[in-house]
Amino acid sequence: MHDVIIIGSGPAGYTAAIYAARANLAPIVLASSVEAGGDLMTTTEVDNFPGFPEGVMGPDLMFNMQQQAERFGADVRLEDVTELELDGPVKKVHVGAEVLEARTVIFATGSAYRRLGLPGEDRLSGHGVSWCATCDGFFFKEKHLVVIGGGDSAMEEATFLTKFAATVTIVHRSETFRASPAMLDRAQADPKISFVTNAIVEDILGESAVEGVRLRDAVTGETRELPVDGVFVAIGSDPRTHLVHGKLDITADGTIAVAGRSSLTSVPGVFAAGDVIDPTYRQAITAAGSGTVAALDAQHYLAELP
Ligand code: FAD
Repeated sequence: MHDVIIIGSGPAGYTAAIYAARANLAPIVLASSVEAGGDLMTTTEVDNFPGFPEGVMGPDLMFNMQQQAERFGADVRLEDVTELELDGPVKKVHVGAEVLEARTVIFATGSAYRRLGLPGEDRLSGHGVSWCATCDGFFFKEKHLVVIGGGDSAMEEATFLTKFAATVTIVHRSETFRASPAMLDRAQADPKISFVTNAIVEDILGESAVEGVRLRDAVTGETRELPVDGVFVAIGSDPRTHLVHGKLDITADGTIAVAGRSSLTSVPGVFAAGDVIDPTYRQAITAAGSGTVAALDAQHYLAELP
């Protein structure tokens, strides 16, 4: 019987592991067999994580977090959780045929940005293609950018990017927008922002850096190339919650519901942290802070068990 099993090895999972290990709870971290280290493994420079004045490469930051957790005794296993039994005082965590038992589970599986599914998108990820203006906007001073999407997040990303970019073009596949009128008005009033509607992005162009996008008119079928230096994909994200559907309460945003500022889910002894509970901020540092909260909540829960 383990005290704490942590599912996920992004900033939330590893930070929870550091705190739980330092509280002598010997946490097991089930880190995933294919995506250990989480979302930052897929990026290059991270310039906004405190403590790195020169910035840090995403994979280096995550490897450091893993080593820090292991230094205090966290058992990091590159394995995938396949099923969960969360009711009752003993939680059962299935890893294929193996079943681990724990008094508490911290669920920190993150959230996946939706992708367009274009060949250029993977090739140029981190080389001009981004999903996060807060993370990467600074790298695009005086550049010409495209934001793809038609909801609030697309308007917000575009408006934020005007702080740096020379121009921002919002490309949207239809003529109507899901964005709230206030957000849309603000973007429309911005002199740096222009709109291309009824346009499908067919591909992102460039070999080692973004050079443009190829657009197809949804009405006429005509294609054209729009030269740009950067592409921000803002078509939403999906919290990775499939393992807990029907087991934990989920919010209207699709995130795991937690009580107030805590990490307490709808099931006692199960805590959640990071992007999987966060519809708004979704940054490495907020995920790390949230991992801290979860480890402290788990610690208090364990201390009060009979
Ligand atoms: P994640 O990092 O997503 O980690 C979740 C973990 O759970 C992964 O390891 C995953 O494999 C694991 N997992 C999922 N399911 C299972 C399972 N069944 N079994 C075991 N493990 C499982 N933020 C910044 O602050 N600065 C940046 O510069 C920045 N750049 C970014 C660049 C890119 C390309 C992306 C995609 C994101 C970027 N972000 C950045 C956002 C940041 O990465 C996230 O906010 C942060 O990683 C969220 O941490 P997390 O621990 O909640 O989840």
